[in-house]
Amino acid sequence: MIAFDFAYFRPNTLKEATEIYKQIALTGKTPVYYGGGTEIISMARTGSVKFDAVIDIKSIPECTTLCVESDRLIIGSAVTLTKIAESGCFPLLGETVSRIADHTIQGKITIGGNIAGTIIYREAALPLMITNSKVKIIRKNRLHDVPFFDVFDGDLHLQKGELIVQFLIDKNYLNLPYCHVKKTKLDKIDYPLLSMAAIKTNNGISAAVSGLGDKPFLLPGKILNETDIPETIRVDKTIAAIQNNIISDLIIASKEYRVFVLKNVLTQMFHNFKGA
Ligand SMILES: Cc1cc2nc3c(=O)[nH]c(=O)nc-3n(C[C@H](O)[C@H](O)[C@H](O)COP(=O)(O)OP(=O)(O)OC[C@H]3O[C@@H](n4cnc5c(N)ncnc54)[C@H](O)[C@@H]3O)c2cc1C
Repeated sequence: MIAFDFAYFRPNTLKEATEIYKQIALTGKTPVYYGGGTEIISMARTGSVKFDAVIDIKSIPECTTLCVESDRLIIGSAVTLTKIAESGCFPLLGETVSRIADHTIQGKITIGGNIAGTIIYREAALPLMITNSKVKIIRKNRLHDVPFFDVFDGDLHLQKGELIVQFLIDKNYLNLPYCHVKKTKLDKIDYPLLSMAAIKTNNGISAAVSGLGDKPFLLPGKILNETDIPETIRVDKTIAAIQNNIISDLIIASKEYRVFVLKNVLTQMFHNFKGA
């Protein structure tokens, strides 16, 4: 049960959504955008968030689109993880999001909600971090296409009222050789001890990880692509370079264990990319 009253809005246009947000905020009340609601509802039930209104974006066509248009894939922020995986349009993203929560919840969670939410893992961001992706946002009543890293450094940085409308991925990245690995402590369905998404372009390997640190981050591309030194040394150099980002906790794993797992995962990744 949610122990407080709030209003529910389901606008049909972006203009309506941002206008509702603005009007509610002007009265001193707290509106929130609502994607799948999985985080909003569970946090509201435990009392860790409170709001006066939710603005459900699932009837806004720009937020629910999933299509390839000229040279890019457009994924609306309210597209569910299930729809992304089933579409097959971006296999690396599909594989990554199919390992978030369980099959039932994947039908509710939206890509925008996963990236804007408070849970530190934000695994859906990993493929976007290594594909030069852009994000369409509403800022000051206007639509802007900005590089993903302009608003995301492992955490999402939006001002109050700004809305993620879409993620834009260059078509050239969609079917490159890739590798996704998710390691959990015990069960297949769990938060990641380590989740890694990697691709190989003509310029080399790019990889991003979640679960190793307190937010997702890129592995150092320069080291991964030092092709004149053996892979085993590149693995050790990568681990040395990110030592300070690796966390240790009593619930999932110690830092030493995370390093051990990363070493195996990187070795597997180099193996997978051989000849690709
Ligand atoms: C059982 C379970 C297991 C999970 N396991 C994992 C896991 O292994 N890995 C992982 O990464 N995550 C995991 N999660 C977290 C899950 O991904 C989040 O609950 C989910 O991301 C929230 O998405 P949502 O669409 O339901 O967002 P909502 O609950 O609708 O929103 C979450 C937040 O994002 C904001 N928001 C939503 N859409 C937008 C938008 N378009 N623009 C701006 N702000 C927006 C909302 O205002 C709210 O603050 C798990 C969750 C559950 C319940």
